[in-house]
Amino acid sequence: MSIKASTLVDILRQRCPRCRRGKIFVSSVFLGFPKMHERCPVCLLRFEREPGYFLGAMYISYGLAVLIIALIAASFWAVTDWWITKDTIWAVVLFLPMAPAITYFSRVLWIYLDQTFDPDQS
Ligand SMILES: [Zn+2]
Repeated sequence: MSIKASTLVDILRQRCPRCRRGKIFVSSVFLGFPKMHERCPVCLLRFEREPGYFLGAMYISYGLAVLIIALIAASFWAVTDWWITKDTIWAVVLFLPMAPAITYFSRVLWIYLDQTFDPDQS
């Protein structure tokens, strides 16, 4: 399975995976705590397909968090002579303000993943 560049752009812009026009959130996930549309405003795709649907998104957000913290810690480790523990603590501190955006953004990834393997035909 290959991912097209346009798909990545649509994911970053948080557009509906089906029509690629409707917004998933009322405002951007990078600007705070956005409210999620129940259905796509354009094609009416239901974003939360069932209760607990976004549980899968939690695994994605956990994976992203670990990845980002590891990257920041590795960068510190490369440019400072701190112990790896101190690098990691600072990486976590710097990651925290990003946490809400990562949490919401992982929902976008989850919806795309789910619609790729199990498209909603309704
Ligand atoms: Zn749509």
